[in-house]
Amino acid sequence: MTKYIFVTGGVVSSLGKGISASSIGKLLTARGLRVAMLKCDPYINVDPGTMNPFQHGEVFVTEDGAETDLDLGHYERFLNAEMRQVNNFTAGKVYETVISRERKGDFLGGTVQVIPHITDEIKSRFRAVSKDVDIAIVEIGGTVGDIESLPFLEAARQMGLEGGRDNVLYVHVTLIPFIKASEELKTKPTQHSVGKLREIGINPDIIICRSEKVLNADIKAKISLFCNVPKESVIEAHDAFSIYEVPLMLHKQGLDDQIIMLLRLRTHSKDLESWTAMVERLRQPKREVSIALAGKYTDYKDAYKSVSEALVHAGIAHSARVHVRYVETTDHDLEAQLADVGGILVPGGFGDRGIEGKIEVVRLAREGRIPYFGLCLGMQVAVIEFARNVLKLADAHSTEFDAHSRYPVIDLLPEQKTVKDKGATMRLGTYECAIKKGSLAHKAYGSAAVKERHRHRYEVNNKFRKLLEDSGLCVAGTYAAKNLVEIIELRDHPWFLAVQFHPEFKSRPEAPHPLFRDFVAAALARTASQAHAR
Ligand code: GLN
Repeated sequence: MTKYIFVTGGVVSSLGKGISASSIGKLLTARGLRVAMLKCDPYINVDPGTMNPFQHGEVFVTEDGAETDLDLGHYERFLNAEMRQVNNFTAGKVYETVISRERKGDFLGGTVQVIPHITDEIKSRFRAVSKDVDIAIVEIGGTVGDIESLPFLEAARQMGLEGGRDNVLYVHVTLIPFIKASEELKTKPTQHSVGKLREIGINPDIIICRSEKVLNADIKAKISLFCNVPKESVIEAHDAFSIYEVPLMLHKQGLDDQIIMLLRLRTHSKDLESWTAMVERLRQPKREVSIALAGKYTDYKDAYKSVSEALVHAGIAHSARVHVRYVETTDHDLEAQLADVGGILVPGGFGDRGIEGKIEVVRLAREGRIPYFGLCLGMQVAVIEFARNVLKLADAHSTEFDAHSRYPVIDLLPEQKTVKDKGATMRLGTYECAIKKGSLAHKAYGSAAVKERHRHRYEVNNKFRKLLEDSGLCVAGTYAAKNLVEIIELRDHPWFLAVQFHPEFKSRPEAPHPLFRDFVAAALARTASQAHAR
């Protein structure tokens, strides 16, 4: 029988609940258990695909084309596993299903209610991910006390009633704030939050305490007493130098032993060697490099989570610390901001704010021979820049930003022109890419065929392809079935490569993405030669 671990959050949001859930997943898989991860989001959007990254951070895309919460990225990176549509759902999706069943007449004669209809639907989604696994870890989004998350918590409580003590475990991740004036760590918010959970009928078995400072034995004893959990089950998670250190921090305090004991699991001995070695490499870099990330959500780092993590992974591959310099492309001093970086990356994006700045950034990278890596919109602006400044097609643009451009080098395919709904209608998920021999991409991947994930509507306009190629733009990767451009490169440049897909989603700390790896190598080479010249 599958066992369940429910992870809830208390006191404030952005506590790193996703990192805690991922770390538990990592520790249990390291013991040979088969683990499924699930994230429930209590908002009414059917998926986060239509949300502004300022609201909800990056939209993570799975192999099967689901637009999901960014925690699924952490699950993939920590567990080295692939998530799918079923691994994330929202209140909107639950209500959508129940309402469409009501319209069909599935509940004929009955009144459709939160309990049991909505909670039944939630529970059936919990069960849908737990086939063929030993444990399902279910992270419930939001903070205990929110109105929205109540049906999810109620469903989690019912699972405990049905499954019994040995089969269902509740982990509450909470904040222990440090009050500077009195130099004290405070447990009261946690007491209240656990009180709130108990009102709903959930007694947490384990409390993970996030804090800036190390918790002393007195504080732990107090949390244990007031929150009714054994002392060994009060686990601290103080700020770590890297998120990848967290599983090891929790393991040292016996978190996995606790879970295994409480759920009466039989497991293998742990295997954390390669993870520990990876964290050590991260902790002791031999070199440093700065990468400019030129986008428009630079005040909110979660908007580029997978990109910044992929850069960290590439750094690990080279024993280098990668500093990401977030550059807002609406700024006026772009050249000055980019002067001393090792490389420039333009990530994906939507909408025209900052678009001219992005095109300018590409020009600076191309002409200044600064290693350049473009992702999705970052490839589209590279094509626009090339068309404008090399082909001299003065107002070349994407029809996303200028519907009447004389030179629409980026455009919608006919099938996208008739799309009306915005939700889940982009080119999404994994597609094959055929790679040209002798290209930078071929060198990186060491393969002539790869699969990468997509999330975009616009494509390079094939009407301009010959013109672009004749002037030196190398098309290094294509989606053969539709003859679409997937990768472009420039010769006579130290490293200039841009892709229509999102390689960042497939990078893992123990298996950095080859394109990120080679981009950072080029950036390190530039940094070394600049230091030499000085
Ligand atoms: N806005 C562009 C498109 O829809 C790029 C999307 C992206 O960068 N993810 O094609």
